[in-house]
Amino acid sequence: MSKKQENIRDLLDFIDCSPTPFHAVNEIKNLLTQQGYSELKESEAWNLLSSGKYFVTRNDSSLIAFIVGTKTRDASGFKIIGAHTDSPNLKLKPNSAYDKNGYLQLGVEVYGGVLLTTWTDRDLSLAGRVIVKGKKQPQSKLIRFEDPLLRIPQLAIHLNRDVNEKGLILNKQNHLPPVFSLAGKKGSTKELLEKRVSQKIKCKPADILSLELSLYDTQPGSIGGANGEFIFSGRLDNLAGCHAALQALTLSKGKDPMTRVIAFYDHEEVGSDSAQGAGSPFLKDVLERLTLDSDNSREIFFRSMANSFFISADMAHAVHPNYSEKHDARHMPIINGGPVIKCNSNQRYATEGVSSAWFETLCKKAGTPVQKFVVRTDLGCGSTIGPITASNLGIRTVDVGNPMLSMHSIREMAGANDHLPLIKVFKEFFTA
Ligand SMILES: [Zn+2]
Repeated sequence: MSKKQENIRDLLDFIDCSPTPFHAVNEIKNLLTQQGYSELKESEAWNLLSSGKYFVTRNDSSLIAFIVGTKTRDASGFKIIGAHTDSPNLKLKPNSAYDKNGYLQLGVEVYGGVLLTTWTDRDLSLAGRVIVKGKKQPQSKLIRFEDPLLRIPQLAIHLNRDVNEKGLILNKQNHLPPVFSLAGKKGSTKELLEKRVSQKIKCKPADILSLELSLYDTQPGSIGGANGEFIFSGRLDNLAGCHAALQALTLSKGKDPMTRVIAFYDHEEVGSDSAQGAGSPFLKDVLERLTLDSDNSREIFFRSMANSFFISADMAHAVHPNYSEKHDARHMPIINGGPVIKCNSNQRYATEGVSSAWFETLCKKAGTPVQKFVVRTDLGCGSTIGPITASNLGIRTVDVGNPMLSMHSIREMAGANDHLPLIKVFKEFFTA
């Protein structure tokens, strides 16, 4: 396998192992531990060593990892890459189980901007975490069913004659609950769900305190196109961003006066306002604790922030061949054309002139091409953790990401040749 193929396989395996933010954070934790990073707890005292490698999590769905800079106490500042661990999906409601017309079904909520129709007629299953009774305190257990337990069947065209002319309109309450089983002698939907969950995590059904489960597509990611130039997978937005930043940090070598940081947040797809989202003080808290044992620590913290830089890594919109009119004619990023700098003067992206020029220089140094995106003037613009983090921390920020199609579909599409260059640029950033 070439280095590029190996890298893409590694990305797709990472995404396949990460059907939910809890699984993604667990994967990242395992990888960091293997690489010699030590876990810190926010509730405990930190005794950080110069050039030491550490990570800390919140809610098991957000994670910050860092390599302490050699001059952190002298306000050398932080080099940060941020991304998000969550993707749009369907989540089970607290009392999800019900029987209807001979079927056992599960009620779902829509999490984030789901491209709903793509969730129909797929082999779906469940993953997330289960809170169970523990000896002293409740315990959280990761869970993932591999078999396709669920399906959201589309209505036959014979019963929906004008669907191709009018489009598939799905009522979120009525048309999204997946089919789980058939009603019969084996008990109610609730009993069946609890039975399957308790079998899977080996506990008594009565010990289950709460379920936090999402639907996911069981089809693994694949490499496609006539020349293997594409990747097809769920959650490329934004596990590809997490993977690239993680690779860059773990591959970065040497001592750096600045502290190298990766910050992966949950809840970006629903606006980032949570205890562990980009709207929270999580990153600020961690950065401040890095400077606490300096003399004049408060001043060192403020000076460090002024010497810092934030790269917000999230996927970008490639031009779609069948809908090219949706792009501004001079801002049409192409797949495998290199990382995209995302600009929006209304601050939906945090990029400004200096951060844009700085990132372009970084790409030049890494030997990768770079593209620019701005949304059509008559269309609204999406956003990222970039502006949220920038306004939280006051750090100079650039919004970047690799071009993709089918964003927020259950199965997205990106370029197989774009991932390694993005890692290269991030590695360049983390090089002293
Ligand atoms: Zn995203």
